[in-house]
Amino acid sequence: MARQAKLVILGAGTAGLTALSEARRYTDDVLLINAGPYGTTCARVGCMPSKALLEVAHAYGRRDWLEESGIRGAETFEPDLPTIMAHVRKLRDRFIAGPIETAESLGERSIHGQPRFLDPTTLEVNGERIQAETMIIATGTRPNLPEAWRAFGDRVVTSDEVFELQAPGRRIGVVGLGPIGVELGQAFAQLGCEVHAFTKGSNVAGLSDPEINASLLKVLKSQMSVTTGADVTLRQSDDGVMIQGEEQEVVVDWVLASLGRRPNVEGLGLENLGVELDKRGVPLFDASTLQIADLPVYVTGDVSGLRPLLHEAADEGRIAAYHALHPEAECLRRRTPQGIVFTEPGAGYAGLTRADLPKSGVVTGSVDFTQQGRALMAGRNAGILQLYADESDGRLLGAEMVAPDAEHLLHLLAWSIQQELTVDQLLEMPFYHPTVEEGLRTALQAARRELGQRRAQPDLPLCHEPADWALG
Ligand SMILES: Cc1cc2nc3c(=O)[nH]c(=O)nc-3n(C[C@H](O)[C@H](O)[C@H](O)COP(=O)(O)OP(=O)(O)OC[C@H]3O[C@@H](n4cnc5c(N)ncnc54)[C@H](O)[C@@H]3O)c2cc1C
Repeated sequence: MARQAKLVILGAGTAGLTALSEARRYTDDVLLINAGPYGTTCARVGCMPSKALLEVAHAYGRRDWLEESGIRGAETFEPDLPTIMAHVRKLRDRFIAGPIETAESLGERSIHGQPRFLDPTTLEVNGERIQAETMIIATGTRPNLPEAWRAFGDRVVTSDEVFELQAPGRRIGVVGLGPIGVELGQAFAQLGCEVHAFTKGSNVAGLSDPEINASLLKVLKSQMSVTTGADVTLRQSDDGVMIQGEEQEVVVDWVLASLGRRPNVEGLGLENLGVELDKRGVPLFDASTLQIADLPVYVTGDVSGLRPLLHEAADEGRIAAYHALHPEAECLRRRTPQGIVFTEPGAGYAGLTRADLPKSGVVTGSVDFTQQGRALMAGRNAGILQLYADESDGRLLGAEMVAPDAEHLLHLLAWSIQQELTVDQLLEMPFYHPTVEEGLRTALQAARRELGQRRAQPDLPLCHEPADWALG
């Protein structure tokens, strides 16, 4: 006799736990099955430990500016890597406690084991059969690592292992400069390590605007050696690992392999669902409801491959649980996309990236933060912000940037894009002085000039007219 449940969620990560919390608004008849470690990727080996390390690195990275500004003694600061790594792990342990407790609080409704679909409504786990009205697959992803690189043991690590390093050697290779490689590479470089970074393409940190990409590369190249367009191989060396590119070779103590991530789908028996799988082995699903064909099975979080970020995994968890329990309901709208890379200066996009823009009908406005007042006084004057607006009505479409306080500017822009605000409407907003946001105003003014909308009157709306932003 199979155990019965209304809903089964596979995976106790961010998507799975958010699906659980959404589902429990409607039913308590939910089972959570997790095959790997608890605590979520974000809190355990992702967003949280990486940002904890970056905070320390950015603080130490300001020592030259302190000296320049008249604060003496900075040359005596010394990064103690073992203690820094222990500090990161201590914070990590604090962050994983909540998600672990949520899973534990389910008691017998939380199952640790590797589930396998027998058909769309039946699973087997730990030898037990479970039948459910509906199921959610939220099994996440794991780092790619070429098979041959496993032979290097703990000299080649991924983001899954890097935070466990007790006393990392100071000569470091980083292979792959997506957001994770760039963040961790900069962190160790700022902490005084010798970092050699290699990436296959010409773009880093997921940026697509060539000017913005060049701006981040300039910063990174002042801190570490960076080779783009590099397809490297690794070889054992007497005192470490040799990284060989076409024109150079370098020996490092260890390598961070940040080569993208793959979905956790092995062993799930997805072939028993009787639907087509994509080339990653994930069943084809509807991108708005996350439902697989007309089955009562949903795909959510990073495993979906749609938007592999924490807040998106959480939203997808909500969407999947809502639709799983209300199959006839109208679909829920996604929020404006944004991606933030926590380098110093920060980098990222809001709304459409340069690569996503239509080929015509777009104007741009930019600001160079090397000359921006507030950035200069903070010694954080690096980066460029580029805005994209619709030529026909001035509506903001997107932005890419490398900028001080990029995480805040990107939120401001994502919120404005979601509200469908125009360049003119944004220029009616208050800008305090002296702030980094004044740089955003400079970019908006440049976009307005491109739009040919320089009006004979100031930015302020006329008294007898409601402000544009108050309409609609
Ligand atoms: C180094 C790093 C830094 C990051 N930084 C950021 C950031 O700053 N901001 C941001 O928004 N995002 C960041 N991310 C991405 C973010 O961590 C992910 O988007 C998010 O964790 C995805 O959540 P998820 O629930 O889909 O997957 P996960 O949290 O990975 O959850 C999947 C769960 O499924 C379990 N599981 C695996 N296989 C099975 C199976 N067969 N059966 C059952 N259970 C299974 C796993 O054990 C896990 O508990 C970062 C990621 C990394 C690696």
